[in-house]
Amino acid sequence: MRECIRCNIEMVEDLDVKVEGGAYGVKVTQQGIFKENLGKLKCAVCPECGYTETYVQDTSKIKKLVLNNK
Ligand SMILES: [Zn+2]
Repeated sequence: MRECIRCNIEMVEDLDVKVEGGAYGVKVTQQGIFKENLGKLKCAVCPECGYTETYVQDTSKIKKLVLNNK
């Protein structure tokens, strides 16, 4: 459960971030051109103030990065 950092109420999660005019999502990668897709960007919106927070739902690839950097 995500809480709005301003209102402290439950945010609506699992919403998609898309480029307007297309069905494309936004992905997270390491810097560089041909880097692996690390996860699809999701967002949560506070129903009260509209504050929007982005996050990656499946963090398994991000966790691997952390391990590889140790
Ligand atoms: Zn809020």
